[in-house]
Formats: sequence, C-alpha cells, structure tokens
Amino acid sequence: MAVNAANFTTTFQNKPSIFEILAQKSLNETLHPAFQKVALFLSSNFPRKFWFLNSYGEEAFACINGVLQFYYLKYYDASFSENFYGLKRLLLNGKPLAKHERELSLIFLVAVPYFKRKVEEKLEIYRIEQAEGSLKQDFEGKTKKCIIYAHALFELMWTLVTLHNYLQYMADKTDIQQPLLHILKLKLTYSNEEPSIGFWSALFKGNLKFSDFSLGLMKNAVSTIFETSAFFLQFLQTWNAQKPNFAITDLPRVEPPSNHAQAEAFVEKCPICLQKWNIPTVLPISGYVFCFKCIIKHLGDTRKCPVTNLPANPLDVVRLYTND
Ligand SMILES: [Zn+2]
Repeated sequence: MAVNAANFTTTFQNKPSIFEILAQKSLNETLHPAFQKVALFLSSNFPRKFWFLNSYGEEAFACINGVLQFYYLKYYDASFSENFYGLKRLLLNGKPLAKHERELSLIFLVAVPYFKRKVEEKLEIYRIEQAEGSLKQDFEGKTKKCIIYAHALFELMWTLVTLHNYLQYMADKTDIQQPLLHILKLKLTYSNEEPSIGFWSALFKGNLKFSDFSLGLMKNAVSTIFETSAFFLQFLQTWNAQKPNFAITDLPRVEPPSNHAQAEAFVEKCPICLQKWNIPTVLPISGYVFCFKCIIKHLGDTRKCPVTNLPANPLDVVRLYTND
C-alpha cells in the first residue's frame, strides 16, 4: 500500500495536469491580441512614430515573440507560457533539449504561428468576398473557394486530433500533451527549477549591493517583469470578459472628423476610384463610403483608411444596403 502510494505520488508529481496544459496554451494565445492592443494604441495615438505598426504589426510581433521565446528556451527549456506554469520541455527519453530541439521549438513557437496568421488574414478577405458574392466563376474565384473549404476542413481535423490527444493524455495512453509536441518528439514535465534569488525583493528591501549583480540575478529581474505582465494580462482579460461585446482586439474609439476638409470632394463617389460606388461600403472609423472591392483591397494592403489614415482592417467594413 505504502509502495503504491509512493508510486502514485511520483507519477502525480511528474505529470502536469490537463488544466496546466490548457492554462499555458491560453496564456500563449493571449500574447498576440495583447500586442495588437498596444500596437493599435501606439499607431492611432502616435501615428508619426509608430506608422510601421499599421503595415508591419505582424512582423513586429514576430520579432518580439522571437526574442521572448528564444530567451525562455535558452535558459529554461520552455516557452514563455510553459515556464509561467512551472513546465519545461524534455525529450521522450527524459533527456534535456539539445540545440537542434531548441531551434525547432523556436520555429514552431514563432514562425509557424506567424505564417498561420498571414494565411488566415488572406482567408478572411476571401470569406468576405464570398459572402458578398463578388467571387467570380473564373480560375481565381474557384481557387479562392477551394482554399476556403480546404482551410475549414484542416481546422476541423486539427481540432479533432488535438481533442483526441488530450483524451489519450488524460487516459495515460501517451506522455505527449499536444499534437505539435508529437511532431517535435517532446513532452512537457514539471521544471523543478530551484527558486533563484529575487532581484526585485532584494532591491525593495534595500540590501542589493553592486557586487551582487550577476547573470542569475539579471535573469530573474527580466523574468519577473515578463511574468508580472503576463499576470496582469490574464487579469485584464478576465476583468473585461464581463463587459458585453468586449474583445481585446477591439479598435480604439476615435471620433469621426466632424467636417473633414476633403469630404466634399467625395460626395456620391468612392474616394479611391472616384467613380459612383459599386456595392457601397462604409468604413466606420472614418465615416467614408467606398466601393466594396476598392476598400477591401486597400485595407488588405495598408491597414488604414485611404482618406484619414486612421488604422482599420478589412473586417471593420460595413456593407450599406441602399434602395438603388
Ligand atoms: Zn471605388
């Protein structure tokens, strides 16, 4: 009995629960919308300094995420969110990661999500075009339709594979917690990292001497900043979840210009092609009305209103149903 109890304790301690796996996944998925929120705030309040965040926001996030994940993989053998929940990555035979596995992990944590979001951005535009009936019956239109259906099928398959993986893990049929870890041939386990000397607690207690500054202490200082930010992020998400219609990616509310100097030039016509509107579509952030195709293409390329330069994306447009 005592032997069984001891065995049970060991297994229990070495195997992270499914809740920890899901919690770290959810924290990891919060990083991108949190960055988008900050980027939108900066690009709409300081457009001259942060103009690049409109067009290259995804690239900027990939760089920041790359540095963050590189740091945690190098020092903790874990992604940022895995480390936050006290987990780390191991080879299936229980050995620690080598350089090759760290590099592959970095690609799967940074580059793969970057390309996935790029593809989904394009797909979202195809879906709007399909819903508006502006996909033609030519080769291009048919290809776009095929891509939309193939993507939906892939998403469904991936969800089922992930669910199957979780069930297998809970039933002790596998040690690997996620499909992506299967591809990398890695598993997650508790990190058992010795708590390092707290930089901030030493600083606030006033007993931090200059001679104390070491790599370990600085490492602790950087991690504490990241982890405290992650905590507030989770907290904000929960807090705001109570507000109706709140999404962390919502655009900031900017008052439309009351009497924009150029407005009179675009009466009854599209500010892009300067013709009478073909499927009139309003961009709520600026109040201007464009042809559906003109504005979708423009926002896909630049992510801002062509007249006012206010930040916007293709999903913000509203189709107007007029009598003519
Ligand atoms: Zn137009």
